[in-house]
Amino acid sequence: MVAGCVVDSPRVGTLDIASLELPCLVPGAGLEPARPLGQWILNPPRLPFRHPGWKRTQPIPAHGGGGEVHAEPRATDVTLPASHSAAHEGLAAWRNLGDASDLRLVAAEVLLVGLELRSPVRTAIGVHRERPIVLVRLECLSPNGESVIGWGESAALADTTYDAEDADSVQAQLSELLIPSLVAHAASSGGQLPGIKKLDVIKALGTGVLWHDAGTSVHLGAGPLAWAALEMAVGDAHLRALGMGLAELLGVGGEWVAPGAVVGTQPAAEELMHAVDSLADLGFCRVKVKIGPGSDIEPLDVLRQWAAQRVANRPGEPLPAFQVDGNGAYAPSAVGHLASFDRFDLLCVEQPFAPWDLESSARLASIIRTPICLDEGIGSLDDVVTAVEAGACSVVCVKPARLGGIGPALEVIAWCESQGVEWWMGGMFESGFARAATTALSALSSRPRPGDLAPAANYLVEDLAGEALATRKSEGGTFEVQVHQGDGVGPMPDGAIIDRTIQSQVRVPVVR
Ligand SMILES: [Mg+2]
Repeated sequence: MVAGCVVDSPRVGTLDIASLELPCLVPGAGLEPARPLGQWILNPPRLPFRHPGWKRTQPIPAHGGGGEVHAEPRATDVTLPASHSAAHEGLAAWRNLGDASDLRLVAAEVLLVGLELRSPVRTAIGVHRERPIVLVRLECLSPNGESVIGWGESAALADTTYDAEDADSVQAQLSELLIPSLVAHAASSGGQLPGIKKLDVIKALGTGVLWHDAGTSVHLGAGPLAWAALEMAVGDAHLRALGMGLAELLGVGGEWVAPGAVVGTQPAAEELMHAVDSLADLGFCRVKVKIGPGSDIEPLDVLRQWAAQRVANRPGEPLPAFQVDGNGAYAPSAVGHLASFDRFDLLCVEQPFAPWDLESSARLASIIRTPICLDEGIGSLDDVVTAVEAGACSVVCVKPARLGGIGPALEVIAWCESQGVEWWMGGMFESGFARAATTALSALSSRPRPGDLAPAANYLVEDLAGEALATRKSEGGTFEVQVHQGDGVGPMPDGAIIDRTIQSQVRVPVVR
């Protein structure tokens, strides 16, 4: 029973679940027997995944119980200061996307495709050899009967190296919680696909539900990586229906962006020098190198040696700048060791300590000139504000997936722009489709720092996107990528490539 349950969220006001005009049944589509929506939300049959929102403090009660239910806002309580920056305008445009739309949702699908990395990516805490990608496909109809397909891509990796969600858990969350909720919402609205703002209702119902019942406290709901895929698909459908691209919506159409490249931990100096040499030949203006305890000074010395040789052999050619990424692998006792990195003249030291260890980052930041950047430690705008105010970082890595989508990423970007905090777009080995979204977002920066925005073809044997973004070398020899010029969030995924790589597919039709 869900009567009397209340969802209270600053983002959506107070909702009485019992009063919501939602359909009685959620189509099972081979997932689970149809059941009332409230049961899907409040008493999911099984949650075979782990994610940040899954915190059980007591065993789940056998039945729903009738206690109060509160949705914890996973995003932010921070009020954005008034500003007229491009990022603020882009945020407003994204939030309004789909408001006036009459797009009808016909069916929603969750697909898993298996892509291959060109070479294994080694970091301080793991090796990635394959790139499974979870996709959301929304089949819609425009008012004049034309088919419109919206795509969303999850950044979740094959394992939980970087995030608590992996591809399997994201697939489960989408199939069992978010897609049924979206379909149910559409069915209750005459089939209408909600706009971005209206997704807050689904988010409040499906994300971060904290259940109090006779001493039992259960936190359920979707994690940010799953949610981001759904938000992207809804935005993509509305953009394609409007005949508009994300870059145009954000006011950055036509912009060229200078991406950075990433080099995984290399087994030997020769491999590292070869990898950096190849990237410099291509014109990358920044190279990020993965480091870890016991594997930092040596590669940095190799890079310094490589730079000296390159200058001697090719005088006058620009050198890429370097930054390092510790992926949270260092212990607090490494503060003194990391402080010695100033001599390497790095753009920044990225996430040296564990995501929750702001104290060590602040201690390091107080004694090192090189900026400290946080990545894994940034899961919301609240995290950004807390970290910056604690002195734990002066640069922010923005990853829409980890923040919960393009909207929350725009909130972070808008706040950083308003406060003069530098930021750059992170990457998670996305396909060219999702990378087009991060490339467009990066063009909003008033003080650009190269993001992890190298074309997907650099690291994927076969890209999902049917069409690569335009590239060029600037007059100064810097490699640049142009933001996506077509409709939608990014170039439409290629159906033939999906057919060749698909591993599973779940379809949930809208039944009215
Ligand atoms: Mg990183």
